[in-house]
Amino acid sequence: MLKAFILVTIIALCVSKKVYDGYKVYDIKVKNQNELKLLENFETNEVEKRELDFLSLHNNVNDVARVVVKPSEQKFVENFFKQNKLDYKVSSNNIQHAIDKEYEEYRILSQSKSDEVTFDRYYRYEEIEKFLDKLEGSNSNVKVENIGKSFEGRNLKTVTITKGDGKSRNSVFIDGGIHAREWIAPAMSLYLIDQLMDSRSNFSKLLDQMDFVIQPVVNPDGYDYTFRFFRLWRKTRSYQRLLSCRGVDANRNYDFEWSSAGASDNGCADTYHGAKPFSENETLASRDVIEKIKDKCKFFLTFHSYGNYLIYPNGYTKDLPENWEDQDEVAKAGADAIEQATGTKYTYGSVSNTLYIASGSSTDYAYGSAKIPIAICMELPGGGFFGFDLPASEIEKTVKESIIGVQAMVETVARKYPN
Ligand SMILES: [Zn+2]
Repeated sequence: MLKAFILVTIIALCVSKKVYDGYKVYDIKVKNQNELKLLENFETNEVEKRELDFLSLHNNVNDVARVVVKPSEQKFVENFFKQNKLDYKVSSNNIQHAIDKEYEEYRILSQSKSDEVTFDRYYRYEEIEKFLDKLEGSNSNVKVENIGKSFEGRNLKTVTITKGDGKSRNSVFIDGGIHAREWIAPAMSLYLIDQLMDSRSNFSKLLDQMDFVIQPVVNPDGYDYTFRFFRLWRKTRSYQRLLSCRGVDANRNYDFEWSSAGASDNGCADTYHGAKPFSENETLASRDVIEKIKDKCKFFLTFHSYGNYLIYPNGYTKDLPENWEDQDEVAKAGADAIEQATGTKYTYGSVSNTLYIASGSSTDYAYGSAKIPIAICMELPGGGFFGFDLPASEIEKTVKESIIGVQAMVETVARKYPN
C-alpha cells in the first residue's frame, strides 16, 4: 500500500512538473473595435470551458492580446481565429520549454548564496523571509511584523521603514506578489526596501516626507507554487468547495463591490472571487494592515505584471472616481518620469477604462473603502516567452527603471498631501 502510494506520488510529481507540455501561446493583433468585441465575447464564453489563459486582453485597439492554449483546444482556437480573420501568430510552440529553461536558470543562480539580496535572480519565499528577518534588528528605523499566516501556514510579513527621528509622517503602503506568477513584483518590492535602507540612495531621501509600509509578497503560497509546479498559477492555494480546483484570485476578494463585475463565480477560474469577501487569510491580513494605517496613509501602491500600466480606481465600473484628476496627476508623474529617463512608455488611466472591468480589487478597496486618496496598480514590464518570465538578467534594469516612476509618484503624493 505504502509502495503504491509512493509510486503514485512520484508519478504525480513527474507529471505535474510538465504541466505545460505542448501548450502554445498565441498573440493576436487587435486592429479594431469589432475584433476587440469578438475576442472579449470569445473570452467570456470559452475561457472557463476550455481552460484558456488570457495573459492579456485589454480595452485598447492596437494592443496585442495573448492567450495560452492547451493542446486539445488548439484546433478550436485556431479555427476561431481563422474564421474571424484575426491577425494571429504562435509566439511559443511549447511553453514548457521556456519554463524548464527558467527553472534551470533559477537552480543555477540560486547556488551562489549571498547574505545580501541581489537583483540578478529571483528568490523563493523562504529566502525572502530570511532576508526580512535579518532586517529586523539591523536598524532601529525598521520594523518587521508578522501580520498573519497564509493558508499553508507561511508567515505574512510587512516591513515598516521610517526616518527614525521620532516624527510620525504620512505613509505609503506598497505591496507585491498578490498574483503568484508575477515574479518581478516581489523583486520590485525588495528593491524598494533595499534602496530605502541605503542612506546614499535618492529614494531613501523620501523618508524625510513619508513613512513606508511594504509587504513584498502578499500571496506566498501561490508564489512558492509557481517555483515548484505551476509556473502560471495566479491565485491563492486555499481549498474550495470543488476539491479539484484550489485558490481564489486575491485581487478579486476585497470587500468593495465584491463580485459585482469582472470576477468569476467559477471556483476553477483564474479570476474566482472566493466564496465571500475576504475569504482568504492573505486578503484579511492585508485588510487589517490597511485599516490600521489608513488615516495617515495617502498612497496605496501595488505591483503587478505585465504591460507597463499605471492604473487607478475604479475597477468595478467605468465611472471615474470623484478625485480622478488627483489620481491621474500622480499616475502621469510616474509615467512621465520613466519615459523621460529611459524612453519606456507607460499607459495610465482608470483600471476599467484602460484594461478591463475588475471588482473586489485591492486598489478599489484602498480608495473606495479605506479612503486612501491615491491607489495605483503598477503593471511592471513583461519579458521572456509569455510575459511573466522576465529573464533574471533583466531584473536589475527593470527595477532601476521602475523606481524612477515610484519616486516621482511618492513625491507628487507628498506634495499634494503634506504632513
Ligand atoms: Zn496581477
